[in-house]
Amino acid sequence: MKNNAVIALGSNVGNRYDNLVAAVNKLTDSSNINLVNYSSIYETDPVGYEQQEQFLNMVIEVNTELNAFELLKRCLNIELELGRKREIKWGPRTIDLDILLFNQENIKSETLIVPHPRMFDRAFVLVPLIEMKPELKLPGLARPIAALITELPDKEGVRLWKRKNGEDVFEHIGN
Ligand code: ADP
Ligand code: MG
Repeated sequence: MKNNAVIALGSNVGNRYDNLVAAVNKLTDSSNINLVNYSSIYETDPVGYEQQEQFLNMVIEVNTELNAFELLKRCLNIELELGRKREIKWGPRTIDLDILLFNQENIKSETLIVPHPRMFDRAFVLVPLIEMKPELKLPGLARPIAALITELPDKEGVRLWKRKNGEDVFEHIGN
């Protein structure tokens, strides 16, 4: 598999945990996308549009034969398959799949921007990302990602919810 990608997942409608798991399974069921690594799951306060439920967020790393646009198409199709409707910008969603990184590429097109343009000011993306890839360095980014996180106002709104090893941090009933 020639390409390496990091994808962020988020859900705040329905059974959020099941939605994350279903999305990871759908993505990596295809023979041309392999799961390499994944983060713990975090529960996070909504950012941007705040009148909505808390999210579960995580990141995964995949290797794939697909190019970035093919991978985006696969992500958007899975969002639809899991019943996502786009109503409010940054509003509630059963599943959101964002491509954060694709190799070391810089992509700027109408349908796809990579690295994801808002990833560096979103603690709900950077906290799981730094957990999964603590050594990650990005070209064009002067400072380590860990230094960025300390300055983010929404970092208090990101709480560990289910550790990578499977132990729940909080008792949760009905998600
Ligand atoms: P957001 O993730 O910002 O809440 P949406 O999930 O509704 O917004 O995505 C809207 C559009 O963003 C998608 O149709 C897609 O074409 C575009 N897009 C641009 N760059 C990316 C990226 N890196 N990953 C996913 N979608 C992207
Ligand atoms: Mg999205």
